[in-house]
Amino acid sequence: MAFNNTKKLDIEAKHAQDFRRTILIVDDEAVNLRLLGNILGDEYDIEYAQTGEEAMSQIQNHKDAISLVLLDLYMPNGNGYSVLDTVRSSEELRNIPVIVFTADKEAEVESLRRGAVDFLHKPYDKPEVIRARASRAIELSIDRNIIGATGVDKITGLMTREYFFQYAHEYDKFHPEQEVDAVVINVSKFHLINELYGRSFGDSVLRAIADGVREASRACGGVACRSNADCFFLYIEHQKDYDFLIRTVRNKLLDGFRQADIRLRIGVYPDIYHSAKLEQRFDRAMQACNSLNKNISADTVALYDNQMHEKELYEARLLGDIEKALLEKQFAIVFQPKYDVRGDEPKLCSAEVLIRWRHPKFGFVRPDFFIPLFEENGRIKELDRFVWQEAAKQVRRWKDMYGVSIPVSVNVSRVDIFDPDFLDFLSKVVEENRLSTDDIHLEITETAYTDSVTTIIDVVTSLRDAGFKVEMDDFGKGYSSLNMLTSLPIDALKLDMAFIKDIAENNKEMSMVEFILEIARFLGVPVIAEGVENAEQYLLLKKAGCDIIQGYYFSKPISASEFGHLIEKNIGLFNHDKASGSV
Ligand code: C2E
Ligand code: CA
Ligand code: CA
Repeated sequence: MAFNNTKKLDIEAKHAQDFRRTILIVDDEAVNLRLLGNILGDEYDIEYAQTGEEAMSQIQNHKDAISLVLLDLYMPNGNGYSVLDTVRSSEELRNIPVIVFTADKEAEVESLRRGAVDFLHKPYDKPEVIRARASRAIELSIDRNIIGATGVDKITGLMTREYFFQYAHEYDKFHPEQEVDAVVINVSKFHLINELYGRSFGDSVLRAIADGVREASRACGGVACRSNADCFFLYIEHQKDYDFLIRTVRNKLLDGFRQADIRLRIGVYPDIYHSAKLEQRFDRAMQACNSLNKNISADTVALYDNQMHEKELYEARLLGDIEKALLEKQFAIVFQPKYDVRGDEPKLCSAEVLIRWRHPKFGFVRPDFFIPLFEENGRIKELDRFVWQEAAKQVRRWKDMYGVSIPVSVNVSRVDIFDPDFLDFLSKVVEENRLSTDDIHLEITETAYTDSVTTIIDVVTSLRDAGFKVEMDDFGKGYSSLNMLTSLPIDALKLDMAFIKDIAENNKEMSMVEFILEIARFLGVPVIAEGVENAEQYLLLKKAGCDIIQGYYFSKPISASEFGHLIEKNIGLFNHDKASGSV
């Protein structure tokens, strides 16, 4: 991590620092100077100025010592705005925060627009308020200066996520009553923009969006960061609608970007009741954002709503139930047959192991719902390990019962790949069941390859060195480049089901499948098609040269005992396993 060695923002520690900061108070009325000096003098060293000119010469002469300027906007000799403007426009002074005193609402907005960090009211607020605001402005400016040195996102110049959250926490501390919005802005299909127009164009899109995001967040009294890749977070005062935000960002995307179809997806969690933790609010804004269709044709906004909340509660419940479910054997594995279709007759050759969950309250929970949930949470590791163990035990049973080796494939999640014990655990499972690494094939989804190329190449290489066969699952869903494919260690390509769906009706899909088959031939690996539901699809795929087929056309996933009967019927197809010593 880039920030390991950098100074963390520790407000307590800063308070404890053993030196006093200096505040410059600018007001034309001596009585006000005295009053403010009394309020702040215990904690700070105070300098005074009674005109704009005097203020500027104090600031110039003591620029390294002054931590804060308290500025009266209306003075006879040159008004406060000119002091504010001079400070903000000077490279060496702009880090000094300025709080203005105002008597009217309009001036508040105007002074914030011109770069004041905060404002206080005339007649004066309570002493506690003045002290709290002064100390907050100083702390935030120290933070901002640290951020200036370290916590800046290199591409956009916005804060990094880490600093953003510290900032936002501070904000909450000082504005407990303020209604705030957590906003997530995501660029739809940003990878395509990168791919079609190049990375540097992609970067300039991010910069343009960042400019808009920065401007909008300031105008809405908040802060913003680039959280990762093409995802921006804003923490702003609660808005009635988000037209202003969209308009401001959109404005930056007018010149020079017209050729690209840039669409923004915006998710919002309005925290009117202050009921959720900061990070959770952004998770919810993200959920709202993800609920929007990726193929949108206009910028769209989604607010976190009740339905999403219900889903969140349901997911939390499922996550909490995993341990009990493992103990109470609510999970079971099923087997979906794979057929080798290279010869005249399709031959049963293997099976994919799939998990099933019978929840005592919710009934059957779909794996494509709970697997991504557990993946996100890291809990998938336990579940996958359970599946591998159960699968290996079953293969052993079949070996003992029928004396044949029938390999099965199990799914491997992204999380497993980063688990340092992954290979050891798998090897142990194989060993404990007296199997060979040939008996358990591994399906790794293509997007895991494209996410983290170097790690996965290392891990897959070590798996294959240990004798395991690795199939690239859901191929075509990710964005492997041809170049990358040739350097990937794999034993089979498993076509993404989405391709199969329309091959009978749609020539484009079929030519995509043919293209992938060519790639596979070039790589010298077999192709597995899954999701094959009818004879038409089967025949087209067979004719195109597909090697192995899995899908409802042959069989839905079935229980171990049903699959046992299938083995029995096809016993002649399998190698008799001498090592097993039975039948
Ligand atoms: P997958 O790995 O791509 O698995 C194939 C999915 O396609 C299975 O859904 C299977 O039942 C379904 N399928 C097979 N043939 C057909 C067909 O002809 N038509 C249609 N419409 N569907 C077909 P399932 O079992 O619901 O699993 C969904 C996803 O959940 C899997 O996609 C996989 O990503 C994940 N999953 C399932 N079991 C496990 C597991 O044990 N571990 C991990 N990590 N993931 C699993
Ligand atoms: Ca799979
Ligand atoms: Ca698949």
